Amino acid sequence: MRFENATPEDVLSRIFGFSSFRGFQAEAVASAMRGEDALVLMPTGGGKSVCYQIPALCRPGMGLVISPLIALMDDQVAALRQLGVNAAALHSELEADELARIRSDLNRGALEILYISPERLLSPGTSAWLSRQRLSIIAVDEAHCISAWGHEFRPEYRALANLPEIFPGVPRMALTATADPRTREDILQALGMVDSKQLTASFHRPNLYIFVRPKTSEIRQLTEALANRGDGASIVYCGSRNKTERIAKSLRDKGFTALPFHAGLSPQEKRAILTRFRSGEPIVIVATIAFGMGIDRPDVRCVVHLDMPSSPEAYYQQIGRAGRDGQRADTVLLYGGEDMARARYWLEQSNAPDSEKRVMQQRLESMIAFTETTGCRTQALLACFGENFPTPCSHCDNCLSPISVFDGTEAAQKVLSAVYRTNQRFGAVHLTTVLRGKMTEAVERHAHQHLSVFGVGRDRSEAWWRGIIRQLIARGALRMSGEHNTLGLSPEVARPILRGEEKVMLREDPIATLRTGAALNT
Ligand code: ADP
Ligand code: ZN
Repeated sequence: MRFENATPEDVLSRIFGFSSFRGFQAEAVASAMRGEDALVLMPTGGGKSVCYQIPALCRPGMGLVISPLIALMDDQVAALRQLGVNAAALHSELEADELARIRSDLNRGALEILYISPERLLSPGTSAWLSRQRLSIIAVDEAHCISAWGHEFRPEYRALANLPEIFPGVPRMALTATADPRTREDILQALGMVDSKQLTASFHRPNLYIFVRPKTSEIRQLTEALANRGDGASIVYCGSRNKTERIAKSLRDKGFTALPFHAGLSPQEKRAILTRFRSGEPIVIVATIAFGMGIDRPDVRCVVHLDMPSSPEAYYQQIGRAGRDGQRADTVLLYGGEDMARARYWLEQSNAPDSEKRVMQQRLESMIAFTETTGCRTQALLACFGENFPTPCSHCDNCLSPISVFDGTEAAQKVLSAVYRTNQRFGAVHLTTVLRGKMTEAVERHAHQHLSVFGVGRDRSEAWWRGIIRQLIARGALRMSGEHNTLGLSPEVARPILRGEEKVMLREDPIATLRTGAALNT
């Protein structure tokens, strides 16, 4: 084809306009040029596309790129066409004339890069037709979609195991920004690439400021977090569809341009929101995890989580959508004890097979441990992905204002005995009321004013006790004992604390009113 005699460096500068390869790009390109399979792990914004686009152009034949989302494919195709590359996307939403054009280009051997969805690729007609083409490379983009344990699993990706049978001798490149070692293993296993080269970039993103705060007043904390967004966009992640609608409305009432986004919207509604998001206007998208892949606006200045993600991997991908232009971006995660307890409870109740449940549990526990850590957040996160980051990052809340710890054994004992004496039938709000000795209708109805624990925590604020309860949930001493937010004891963890056999070191939560980010501007 056009570039068969050009070197990858030529194509990089002539077509893409970049003066040199970045990070592992040169190695990834070289391995594909040699005809070898490879797994490329790079954070979002790391420059994965070039890794397969250049071999696609420099090797004889057409590059085939498997991609899970139509929007993602269309974006890439538009970008390539702007550069003068003949690219196309084959998916279910094609107009008939576009399809005819693709077929004719293909038959003439004029198409340079073809994006395709996995279901389309593996439909018998298409695969037979494509197997007669000469292919330069097969790229499996967003390769983590093949992992059943991941948060973006796509069953269709499983069938990609058959690629070498249908297209023998074509080098494959799997690419993902999901870094955890288990997903990596899964991708290699599923694609039959266990012996292939793995190119892993550091996942450190120095321009991402990471703040993690106990949830005290959602809307107030959210508006504070959004104060730094400038002219850029913001994404607010919520755990449910209803909540996205509710929060977007509250933000609009406060004068923000805020729109909800979730899987319950019609395709037209989704498209309209995405168009506005991409247009560059300062906008706040309040979304479920349905707002995900293919979010490529460079100036996302702020990503807020109002609910705790289910795993560090999901969390890192979501905050990774911020600051793709390399400028500072703030990420704020709000979390609460009841949320953790509820997440654990539902996971326990789930009907998933035991092996999957164990993995999900382990991820949830890593996520909980991450929220409560007193050390550097970046180090903690990268450690979840098997990366050893040697020094504290200086762009996370714990680095910017170090957390002090204190001996909280006595406070813990007070909480645990309050739970025990109220028969493990109440939630954090009532327990706090009892500890602080406040007379309420509920206290009176249950005669809790007569308990020995009533008022033993008068000297501390409500927020302080909520912090202790949350930390006791996090360490597993308290658990949700039903669908309602009632807290019970986990005897094996709680007993040694109650007996004074175990010292409980707790974190001193930052003062709730500290402006997120703003006070820490560097
Ligand atoms: P990813 O798919 O890993 O999220 P992209 O392939 O979209 O990342 O690239 C992210 C950004 O980096 C793009 O704006 C791209 O133009 C830019 N980029 C990629 N490679 C280079 C390079 N070698 N030199 C300069 N910029 C690059
Ligand atoms: Zn840090």
